[in-house]
Amino acid sequence: MKPDDLVVVRPEGLYCPHGDFHIDPWRGVPRAVITHAHADHARGGSQHYWAAARGHALLRERLGKQAQITPLAYGETVRFGAVTVSLHSAGHILGSAQVRIAHDDGRVWGVSGDFKRDRDPSCDAFEPFACDTWITEATFALPIYRWTDTREVAAEIFDWWQAAKRDGQSAVLFCYSLGKAQRVLAELTAFTDETVYVHGAMPGLIKAYRAAGIRMLPTEAVSNIPKGTSFAGKLVLAPPGASGTPWMKRMHPYSTGFASGWMRVRGGKRRLAYDRGFVLSDHADWDSLLATIDDTGARRVLVTHGHGDALIAHLTARGIEASMLATQFEGEGGAAADGEAEAVDSAAAD
Ligand SMILES: [Zn+2]
Repeated sequence: MKPDDLVVVRPEGLYCPHGDFHIDPWRGVPRAVITHAHADHARGGSQHYWAAARGHALLRERLGKQAQITPLAYGETVRFGAVTVSLHSAGHILGSAQVRIAHDDGRVWGVSGDFKRDRDPSCDAFEPFACDTWITEATFALPIYRWTDTREVAAEIFDWWQAAKRDGQSAVLFCYSLGKAQRVLAELTAFTDETVYVHGAMPGLIKAYRAAGIRMLPTEAVSNIPKGTSFAGKLVLAPPGASGTPWMKRMHPYSTGFASGWMRVRGGKRRLAYDRGFVLSDHADWDSLLATIDDTGARRVLVTHGHGDALIAHLTARGIEASMLATQFEGEGGAAADGEAEAVDSAAAD
């Protein structure tokens, strides 16, 4: 960090001293700009929140009725001290945003939040903007992480479901409740109009997506289905936490799948715990991380989330000033809500 940086790390999280606000703070603060509604980014306890209007309903679900939230359209500006702030679509989940911070002295900084560049019919596409300094996430910042086309992955999921149907089994797909589940439901509209059954953690979030106009397969909560009803031949979506719990008894006999970027790691423990792994991530892969840095034109890159050593070495070799943004405070809030922002080595090593 340098003395006059537009964004620094404070014990509460990323902080803009020139505008006196935090971004995705880990503790309650007076002014919080929120990039998206995943629990590791949107935490309660702050006095006033600013967030993208497209994700307002999801954030409201997370923070509760009392929270003071000012929704901002993508590109709309808000003034904090000596800086002008705007939010720009990050392509990560519905309502996800990058933060653009423009100082009156002409400097522009960008904070990526979680983002991806792959197509996703359940949220708005990533919108690049130019900046001098770019703070990037680095959840999958290794060259081994390169995503397959989403349509191909969706076809694999559909084929696995149909195979389970032929075998008289239910197809239970584990995926994170916010973002991944809705993306799968939107992608599968290309193949079928059959109803998908969902775990109780999902209906409220799915409803918020439908209210935002996102087209998805019809869904029914498993809890609304009379006990004893067979789920044979049905696709069931559940959060990873439901794996191995008594909740699964109703699905017998079943085939299990898991949709996550971590499924790229062959032989990993996560992969072996399921019958099938589908590589589907809501984070940027290696190529996207690099392409995005090129798009911003930034000459200085600060890396947060995950292990950025390979990215920093790569950028330094290209003449870009790159370093970790001290993240020693990260993790205080516990496990990441999208389950993908875990340390890369914990997945790569097993
Ligand atoms: Zn996220």
